[in-house]
Amino acid sequence: MPSPPEGCLFCKLVVDGDHVHAADGFVAIRDINPLAETHLLVLPERHVDTFRDVAAFPPDEAARMLQFVAETAQAAGLDDYRVLVNVGPGAGQTVFHLHWHVLGGRVDAEKAAGALTETAA
Ligand code: 5GP
Ligand code: ZN
Repeated sequence: MPSPPEGCLFCKLVVDGDHVHAADGFVAIRDINPLAETHLLVLPERHVDTFRDVAAFPPDEAARMLQFVAETAQAAGLDDYRVLVNVGPGAGQTVFHLHWHVLGGRVDAEKAAGALTETAA
């Protein structure tokens, strides 16, 4: 595995974050600025800058990552939920370590609209 960029926030949280779920090289944490009643982030241990580079995951690990996203939602008691990945600053990505947003329950419409229209570019 290539070494991650120095000071990557999510590499750090993979190690010492407050994990609500963890297994097989993946962790889930609560988003610090929730856009919905439940807003979790799934982080792979493997550092990959964006979803654009998802091919860096061996196929079995990529499949496991998707299963882990579904398990995280289930473990949080969510039946219906949204899964979102912002890819690149023009699409609102602000942390450059691939992560999956899992959003369940009531959405904060104003904050969510802001997050979808804001870009970091
Ligand atoms: P992005 O905008 O890159 O798709 O998502 C990054 C997410 O990380 C944002 O929703 C933001 O609220 C969340 N975030 C940023 N810093 C921290 C932090 O230190 N801890 C946690 N738990 N979430 C963070
Ligand atoms: Zn990282």
